[in-house]
Amino acid sequence: MDQRIDDFRSLSPAVQRASTVLFDSIADFTTRKERVFDGYTYGVTGTPTTRALEERIARLEGARFCVTAPSGQAALCQIGLALLTAGDHVLISDSAYGPLRTFAKDYLQRFGVVCETYDPAAGAELAQCLRPETRLIFMESPGSLTMEMQDIPAIVQLAKAAGVLTVLDNSWASPLGFQGVPAGVDIVVEAASKWFGGHSDLLLGAIATDSRALYEKLRTAQSVLGQAVSPDDCFLALRGLDTFALRYAHQCASALVVAQRLAQHASVDGVLFPPLPGDRGHARWAASFQGGGCVLSFIPKLQSSEQVHRFFDALEVFQIGASWGGVHSLAAYYPAAEQAKRGHCEFKQGIVRLAIGVEPVEQLARDLEQALRRAAEPS
Ligand SMILES: *Cc1c(COP(=O)(O)O)cnc(C)c1O
Repeated sequence: MDQRIDDFRSLSPAVQRASTVLFDSIADFTTRKERVFDGYTYGVTGTPTTRALEERIARLEGARFCVTAPSGQAALCQIGLALLTAGDHVLISDSAYGPLRTFAKDYLQRFGVVCETYDPAAGAELAQCLRPETRLIFMESPGSLTMEMQDIPAIVQLAKAAGVLTVLDNSWASPLGFQGVPAGVDIVVEAASKWFGGHSDLLLGAIATDSRALYEKLRTAQSVLGQAVSPDDCFLALRGLDTFALRYAHQCASALVVAQRLAQHASVDGVLFPPLPGDRGHARWAASFQGGGCVLSFIPKLQSSEQVHRFFDALEVFQIGASWGGVHSLAAYYPAAEQAKRGHCEFKQGIVRLAIGVEPVEQLARDLEQALRRAAEPS
């Protein structure tokens, strides 16, 4: 059935679904592999809806190319599988996303890639960890739980000098806070599930690069590994991006207010949030970043499990949950034992992580204050 679409225009992008892509001639069909990178060959490498999203993300990142992935974690794994070979050595920030470190330890190592974690506060001294077979450095700055800022310009410089690729998980800052590709990072990853989607109902990842050669390797890996992204999910991300700058400005400003209130609170031992003046990563953040994030952590003075439970059970506006970047504020807890497992963590205490949503900031600050009061009450 022919569909009449030429006299219809919508303000929103069309969702174009396909496994099969049709070709005009058998000549087009037999040469389809030539169009994997710039055209359409099969649903797994995308439809016009996917391309619209990838082009929009590339523009946001200040990059030439973008490949989407089914989740942020899938994007991270796809990079490893696309670019690494047995015998390669990889450096991974000790505060990088936990499942990436697990993928490195339990999968890449099994395939003969040597993975080593490094101090997440590293800068130029990371040069000492380079080996002749070092292929790639995975950065995440700030680390999205313990918030160490890496010296990205220094690491980019030493990596370029050594011919080592750099990858940055930029999910915390997003390209509105920091554009890694123009800063010289080879590959920038976003957990699009977070800021871009913006409503806690989407799983999506994005990989951006300026290098045509890297783009082709990443697109090929997407195809071969079958990392298909649903056009419906791309539509949700496109819609999320329409309000992204507004959400970002509001949530970052609220996060700074919450961080300041917590920093002055008698029941708080420390606030981890690079945009906060006095934070150990503030100078690096201020030197390179144009914006903050909506995720911050703090170390409560009240560390007994009873007190921690009372704090979380008393929260009324914050809901308990991992993830972040949506409109609802969330709180999560990372017990001391988890920090102790890491090789380069300066904290031995339990850490509360907050994701700030769009609720009125005074409500959020008061909710935390009343819950901290409840935690301090004698049991
Ligand atoms: C959530 C997150 C990821 C993974 O994204 P998913 O889409 O949930 O797989 C990767 N890195 C960081 C820093 C994250 O916060």
